Amino acid sequence: MKIALFSALSGGDPLWGIIDEEMVHITEGPGGKKTGERYPLSAVRFHAPAYPGKIVCVGRNYYGHIREMGNDSEPLPEEPGLFLKGANSLADPGLDIPYPHFTNEFHYEGELAVVIGSRILSGTGDPMKHVLGYTAGIDLTARDRQRKDLQWTRAKAADAFCPLGPWIETDMDPSSTVVRTFVNGAMRQEGRTSDMIFPVPAILKYITAFMTLEAGDVVLTGTPEGVGELFQGDRVEVTVEGVGAPLVMTVSGEGA
Ligand code: MG
Repeated sequence: MKIALFSALSGGDPLWGIIDEEMVHITEGPGGKKTGERYPLSAVRFHAPAYPGKIVCVGRNYYGHIREMGNDSEPLPEEPGLFLKGANSLADPGLDIPYPHFTNEFHYEGELAVVIGSRILSGTGDPMKHVLGYTAGIDLTARDRQRKDLQWTRAKAADAFCPLGPWIETDMDPSSTVVRTFVNGAMRQEGRTSDMIFPVPAILKYITAFMTLEAGDVVLTGTPEGVGELFQGDRVEVTVEGVGAPLVMTVSGEGA
């Protein structure tokens, strides 16, 4: 099932819906009952499909990315390395994102994103039963600030630093999908989630041992090798096999 948060091009508030062929059927909440109203896909635009209280991100979760960041002399992480983005970081699919004024090294990181469907407390049992589904995310990063700032807040959690979407797929296996990133049509990243150091169930178990995940929270699961710089005018597409459509963003002129 494909769950979308969308607005009619004719206006109005965002609505939850299920995509079925060329139509979006309005539902009562994400994945809920159909109301009977529907729109053709051509008459809607999509929003980032979540209302997170927090976005929990994993760094260094693919061996190839650890190697390219020059960390290959260190032992593999024994625990997931986590950082946070806020709801301010969410960006709708298709958005034109200004090149940030505080960096000279703006990087993409294509990632598999997990959207939480219901509260996961420590010791809840199988955390995967509380996952709503999966989509694509871009962990936008000011790489120079990540190296120089004391903490990663500006480097990772600035406004619009987490494009997400275009919709949530509920029926896919997060342990056997492929994440690809294209910049201006050229493939820059291709990673199999089977190569993750910490697979999705282990990440969720690790997080919820100390932090409750709530419905709507998002977990970014780390990026494969092939990260790189973005420049004004670049068009980025991230695909997660099984979702069925790319998450697209473009980089516009420098922001305020
Ligand atoms: Mg990342």
